[in-house]
Amino acid sequence: MTQLLPVLPTVDEHHVDGRRYPHGVAFMDGQYLPMSEAKISVLDWGFLHSDATYDTVHVWNGRFFRLDLHLDRFFGGVERLRMKLPYDRKKIESILAACVALSGHKSAYVEMICTRGSSPAFSRDPRQAENRFMAFAIPFGSVANKEQLERGLHVAISETVRIPPTSVDPAIKNYHWLDLVKGLFDAYDVGAETALILDTNGHIAEGPGFNVFVVKDGSLRTPAFGVLPGITRQTVFDLCAEIGLSATAAGISRAELKGADEVFITSTAGGIMPVTRIDDTAIANGHVGSITRRLTDLYWQRHDDPAWSTAVIYP
Ligand code: PLP
Repeated sequence: MTQLLPVLPTVDEHHVDGRRYPHGVAFMDGQYLPMSEAKISVLDWGFLHSDATYDTVHVWNGRFFRLDLHLDRFFGGVERLRMKLPYDRKKIESILAACVALSGHKSAYVEMICTRGSSPAFSRDPRQAENRFMAFAIPFGSVANKEQLERGLHVAISETVRIPPTSVDPAIKNYHWLDLVKGLFDAYDVGAETALILDTNGHIAEGPGFNVFVVKDGSLRTPAFGVLPGITRQTVFDLCAEIGLSATAAGISRAELKGADEVFITSTAGGIMPVTRIDDTAIANGHVGSITRRLTDLYWQRHDDPAWSTAVIYP
């Protein structure tokens, strides 16, 4: 897939002037709207019960990165939640591309969402609900700011336990974030910038919107259990395979995290981001490590590669 032509919607003229949408464009109920007008009913179970799944893909220099993998994960989640999308995959691709093209942003954070919706008769039976699809493209945002990307993030380990996979399947990307938000407050309380929380075995799980990797003696490891299988995490596996680095998914204890040669986090919101402090421990003497730098460079290089990315056509 190298080029994605948005089927531009027939909306009035102000809807096709990208410069008018610094805050982005949304698609809801068959219409493209400025972000400020994109609203959902308070009766939607997505809002009331967090009964929703979503995915986030980014656009960099006018190209979607690994859109197919994001769509696979989104469609997988929708199916496991027994929801039905009102559009097929091709149509959803063109809606996402149209949101980006209409917004005019060359670097964007693009989200697709399916909520349970609500039942016209206020039934409590989820089978009676009319599922809803919505999407939006907003300016690109990152977990880490410029300074943090240069010097590495300061992360605290919170005692909070991530919702167990026996309760909510983490492969279904979801908004169950009360644990992650609690972790963030715990981190702020001790002067850190973000958090890692634990799995039910007391090992490291993930953070608010990211997976984590450790590098030890030239090999990489990332938690296997109770975490979202991130697309950026998958990209790190793919890049490691290309350059001959060993990368595996397996449990990581707190001591292993703090004793690592390098630590980085991965997210669509920012890519590969270095970590140079965990609680009071400096990682790699507080410097960004060479494997982290190498993978970060490769990661951004791949954003222009037609095998990994898809061009958006702007009006
Ligand atoms: N873990 C959680 C809980 C997330 O919400 C996210 C992304 O939002 C990630 C990990 C990273 O996933 P990806 O690399 O697909 O953005």
